[in-house]
Amino acid sequence: MVSDSFIAAIGDIPIITDRALVRQKSRDFFWYSPLLKQALNQKSADLIVCPRTEAEVIQAAALCARHKVPLTARGAGTGNYGQAVPLHGGIVLDMAGMERIVALEDGLLTIEAGAKLIDIERQVAPQGWELRMYPSTKRSATIGGFVAGGSGGIGSITYGGLRERGNIVGARVVSCEEEPRIVELRGDEIHGVNHAYGTTGIITRLAIPLAPRLPWIEVVGAFDSFIAAARCGRALALSDGIAKKLASVSADPIPQFFRGLDVPAGKHVLIALVAAHALVPWDHLLREHGGSEILRRPMEESEAAADLTPVYEYTWNHTTLQVLKKDKTITYLQSLFPAGRDLALVEEMQATFGDEVQLHLEYIRAAGAVTCSALQIVRFTTEARLYEIIRHHEERGILIANPHVYTLEDGAGHKRVGAGQPEFKRKMDPHGLLNPGKMRTYQPQFAAAVAP
Ligand code: FAD
Repeated sequence: MVSDSFIAAIGDIPIITDRALVRQKSRDFFWYSPLLKQALNQKSADLIVCPRTEAEVIQAAALCARHKVPLTARGAGTGNYGQAVPLHGGIVLDMAGMERIVALEDGLLTIEAGAKLIDIERQVAPQGWELRMYPSTKRSATIGGFVAGGSGGIGSITYGGLRERGNIVGARVVSCEEEPRIVELRGDEIHGVNHAYGTTGIITRLAIPLAPRLPWIEVVGAFDSFIAAARCGRALALSDGIAKKLASVSADPIPQFFRGLDVPAGKHVLIALVAAHALVPWDHLLREHGGSEILRRPMEESEAAADLTPVYEYTWNHTTLQVLKKDKTITYLQSLFPAGRDLALVEEMQATFGDEVQLHLEYIRAAGAVTCSALQIVRFTTEARLYEIIRHHEERGILIANPHVYTLEDGAGHKRVGAGQPEFKRKMDPHGLLNPGKMRTYQPQFAAAVAP
């Protein structure tokens, strides 16, 4: 529990003590996983602290270090593996109040970490810029949460994942010590905080390069065969002359859960975002692969269009959500198919698992090569069967980033935390108070404050 003297020392930083709200802001979308639902459902912070400035972040971090209180940063709480769920109580630091643009110069945006991605796009649009990539949660997620908890998304077909060198060029990070320090990370140093779940510092600012803004057109192609849809998605990804932001393929019956798209029964779909000037080449590509267009409309993201579901909310991990809304028996996987063998393995997995593992592919660039990441819809039966499915994929060379665990090590496709992260954590969080329990291999030195 957080002591009265701790609360008194918070001063005039806004806090939330209402139990229901504290519990709500201690949760994310971990319930996608039946295993995480069981493990995390009862977890909650003791208090929510809502800083408005970097000075207030420093004040909160100093207090946590002095009182040995765990601190878990939170953006919008859209993570899927309990990244933002405090395992040991303490405070949740709600970063949503820090949302200002610091600078925009020559396409490099410096922005506070709590800014919502949709708001960033709306603010940089008049100057002719847009985000290089965003998760399908763009309408709710923050840039800090995306960098600390996400991996890539719409735009990764051109720019690769967040971790590709150059996609994040700087971060300002606050340590959790009695006298917190501000550390500026540049270039490769960014890996200290990228996908570290806030265990290595509190990000207050980020510097990210933007992309020149284009008018995007939402298009959906329908196919009689899944593999034809996958081939078309792959061909679009490889079409260097076509400016695109998305190529997402879903096997029948998944599209039947896409309320608002009216996909004919039995059809497999390719959902894409292509530039307005690329519509004729898109037509030819689609025809070449035997697809027929069932939707074409300009992407509209003004506040006035808030009621319209953008097509990207049928892609990435929104695909799983669309199915989960109607069918609670399913869960999902996250995987990366090896470039070059992707289509052959897609066909093989479809033949092996049939309806039990329904394929949903996202075409991306990974380390310069085009391949697909898949967020398969899995008909859940037992934990043992789920792990059997995971093992089979891994044995065939498909990398699984397990979304049914909450630790960095076990969730990562390479089964260890990012290079340099444990060392960086020791410097930034000597008491082990930042989101404790998420970096399994880090031994905290605050055992007195936190029960195992
Ligand atoms: P949160 O969930 O609040 O936090 C995520 C992690 O970052 C937590 O560990 C938190 O402690 C840490 N954190 C937050 N802010 C800070 C900070 N300022 N400093 C340090 N640590 C911090 N992910 C993708 O990568 N691509 C997708 O396309 C995608 N689609 C999704 C679709 C759905 C429907 C859902 C539910 C999730 C999806 N995700 C996706 C996962 C998630 O939405 C993204 O990772 C998102 O960017 C998280 O942002 P957030 O602001 O909600 O972060």
